Amino acid sequence: MSKAIRIHEHGGPDVLVYEDAPVEQPKAGEALVRHTAIGLNYLDTYYRTGLYPAPNGLPLVPGNEAAGVVEALGDGVNGLQVGDRVAYVGPLGAYAEQRVIPADRLVKLPETISDEQGAAMMLQGMTVEYLLRRTFAVKAGDTVLYHAAAGGVGLIFGQWAKHLGATVIGTAGSPEKVELAKAHGYDHVIDYTKEDFVARVQEITGGKKCDAVYDSVGKDTYEGSLDCLKPRGLFVTFGQSSGPIPPFNLGVLSQKGSLFLTRPTLFAYIAKRDELEASAAALFDVVANGIVKININQRYRLEDAAQAHRDLEARKTTGTTILLP
Ligand code: NDP
Repeated sequence: MSKAIRIHEHGGPDVLVYEDAPVEQPKAGEALVRHTAIGLNYLDTYYRTGLYPAPNGLPLVPGNEAAGVVEALGDGVNGLQVGDRVAYVGPLGAYAEQRVIPADRLVKLPETISDEQGAAMMLQGMTVEYLLRRTFAVKAGDTVLYHAAAGGVGLIFGQWAKHLGATVIGTAGSPEKVELAKAHGYDHVIDYTKEDFVARVQEITGGKKCDAVYDSVGKDTYEGSLDCLKPRGLFVTFGQSSGPIPPFNLGVLSQKGSLFLTRPTLFAYIAKRDELEASAAALFDVVANGIVKININQRYRLEDAAQAHRDLEARKTTGTTILLP
């Protein structure tokens, strides 16, 4: 037995229960990992509420990201040894002291990356990698808009997008968050709880608007986001922190100037082993070279995961957050 957070019914943060959970031995192609740090992501709240269905039903152990040490290996695993320091983005089950996971989801951590950084940045950092390099290849001279700029994905996005030479516009929900985002690559940050972000983007860009808008806030922002795009610009809707986008008429894309729309997920961009390795390597590189700083601004004990969810959903967190087993 080992300790884990388990969900027996969907609901608010109180359904996250810290309890004993069985640990299996790794089968062929699997590894047993003892976690040293676990990443908290907004995604975790979707599985908790049931917005995203759990593939294997309930009870479920939430969490898709952690770092730790390989404790045992099943047959047929190449390239890993017991004792290796690893991190991953993988199937549910990360909110636990130990877990068994397909070994091909593990990435060895280089010496330049600490366990805490690995747990904090793999999911959010590889998300920024595919958003900036593969969903739309951002280049010098492009103008992009990112909502919730002071969040986990947001602070990584600002630094990396600036390094690529783009003009980076962000939105954030308080004066403190505006300042934080400005210190992490954003050229302009709009407090969208006080200002009309569509009018401000129009003003900042001299009416030219954006090549791409990255929107993970969803319900509250998507209509304005579409109005921030140039003709033939790309709307990237990749999350719903304020709630899901309701069904809408795709004719809007034509009326607003032949817009493109994509609804990507990280898992589709790192499904193949070579894609995972390339994405992780690009992330390790920008962090090791000081281009992207990982801000671990909140740490909670694993047993306090419910409080971490409360704070995340109340918009109290900035940057990345980890849970410590
Ligand atoms: P964040 O740290 O960005 O937290 C969410 C932020 O959203 C809040 O801090 C808040 O910032 C903002 N927000 C706006 N409206 C609300 C609301 N009504 N309730 C709560 N928060 C609100 O989280 P993450 O960095 O973990 O993730 C950011 C988003 O990206 C999430 O939607 C997540 O699902 C998505 N995502 C998608 C991936 C994909 O591949 N598709 C992968 C990774 C993340 P503020 O106060 O400044 O408005």
